[in-house]
Amino acid sequence: MRQFLDDLHVPHTLDAPLAPETWYGVGGPAAVLARPSSAQQLAALAARAHEQGLPVHVLGSGANLLVADAGVPGLVVKLSDACFRRVEINGNIVTAGAGADLAKLVLQTAKTGLSGLECIAGVPASIGGAVRMNAGGRFGDIGRVVRRVKVMDSSGHVYYRDREDLAFSYRKSSIVAKFILEAELELTPDDPDALMQEVKRIFMLKSESQPLGDHSAGCAFKNPSPGPDGSPRSAGKLLDQAGLKGFRVGGAEVSPQHANFTVAHPGCTAADILAVLDHAQRVVFEKFGVKLEREVVVWP
Ligand SMILES: Cc1cc2nc3c(=O)[nH]c(=O)nc-3n(C[C@H](O)[C@H](O)[C@H](O)COP(=O)(O)OP(=O)(O)OC[C@H]3O[C@@H](n4cnc5c(N)ncnc54)[C@H](O)[C@@H]3O)c2cc1C
Repeated sequence: MRQFLDDLHVPHTLDAPLAPETWYGVGGPAAVLARPSSAQQLAALAARAHEQGLPVHVLGSGANLLVADAGVPGLVVKLSDACFRRVEINGNIVTAGAGADLAKLVLQTAKTGLSGLECIAGVPASIGGAVRMNAGGRFGDIGRVVRRVKVMDSSGHVYYRDREDLAFSYRKSSIVAKFILEAELELTPDDPDALMQEVKRIFMLKSESQPLGDHSAGCAFKNPSPGPDGSPRSAGKLLDQAGLKGFRVGGAEVSPQHANFTVAHPGCTAADILAVLDHAQRVVFEKFGVKLEREVVVWP
């Protein structure tokens, strides 16, 4: 692995713990965690991994990730260098690097008087992770304001994809390129005070109903598609009705506050969390015939 990186001069750590890189705070190490300091370095790294058939994972802020206790073989890439965190505001167009922090951008754009991101106040994410997952909630999602994205494929080739070529759906984007490098967002001018009020309102609503202070990855499962009568179904409600709040394996627990959050207490392992998720999935299927699909991404 050392030889793989030797002549590339990419900042990296071998056998790097990933638990501190995720909101769950559990899981094993990455064989290599690389933090390239330019797009050129990233391209060289991607091309080398591609040539050698090495698995590559891209890490955002780790807010939707569960890393297995055995860790991740191969390469994990984090776009945390300043060159991937730049934010530029030009009129109502905001260009944000993949590594930029979404929560900060929500505040910055609201204060600047640009509307479009206040609907995702309180969602922890990097821009890359938010675009990949189409982060959102009942008030809207990031996909609605994406004008184009700059991406890099797994062999290091960089290109743009415009809104017309992109599809965003519930917690999903159609972007298949390995790396999202940058997103251009088209926002709408609005009153900064009203926008800040809205950010606060949405953040308060979220913090009243969700255990934001605990270690979690947000909602563990996606909401299932509407029932036979066309009415929307909530994964959290099904988990609650199945009596799963407070269900615990080791250090993992279905949050007593919000049944779709599985939280990690001290000493928790990834295996504990997976056991809780598997059990919850099974119980909901047995009781309601609904197969819940995980929203949390599990590595490897
Ligand atoms: C307390 C809490 C509350 C949450 N509430 C919400 C909510 O209301 N709505 C919501 O949608 N989500 C919510 N989440 C989940 C999470 O915030 C989102 O899924 C977010 O989009 C994850 O972004 P990230 O940068 O942390 O991505 P990560 O968790 O690091 O990665 C998620 C996926 O995106 C990929 N990825 C990350 N960066 C890139 C990149 N640059 N290029 C290509 N792929 C990339 C990863 O490979 C992985 O597949 C919550 C999470 C927590 C912990």
